[in-house]
Amino acid sequence: MRVLDTAALLHWPVSKLTGNVCAVSQQYELERVSPQRWMLVQALDIDWKEVTTEWLNLARSCAAKSGDLPRLSDVDLDVLGLSLGLQIPLVTDDYRLQNAMKFSGHTSTSVDTEGAKEVWTWVRMCTGCRHTTEVPEDVGRSKTGEVGHCERCGSPLQLKRKR
Ligand SMILES: [Zn+2]
Repeated sequence: MRVLDTAALLHWPVSKLTGNVCAVSQQYELERVSPQRWMLVQALDIDWKEVTTEWLNLARSCAAKSGDLPRLSDVDLDVLGLSLGLQIPLVTDDYRLQNAMKFSGHTSTSVDTEGAKEVWTWVRMCTGCRHTTEVPEDVGRSKTGEVGHCERCGSPLQLKRKR
């Protein structure tokens, strides 16, 4: 039994999907991305779970440690939370999710790619004074753009790989 991300729901043969765990929020994502696939997947025996606040906190804390949190979507956090909360492996091709899992010593496997080998840590660096800070658990999340403002000079912060 594993937690499957939406890429697995989209691309795996349906026979492999049965018996695994997914988040309820993935139903809406899948329906939006591929209504036809959703019709198919709906009929399968998949354990759709709501993610508890406690599990979401586990996910947020795990992803903040590696610094991946600002770039994760709500659905990303849900599947991460399921995997950590239920303590079962995660199947995902998202390198940020793989990185966050690996950083805290958890298992993830990829849907069809090789998967991340190196583990990265992300920090926030000021575009003005270059001051760096860790990624906090309450960071705002979006796929691109700034990740807060500098406490020293007020300039936008960007994610940088920690060296
Ligand atoms: Zn600054």
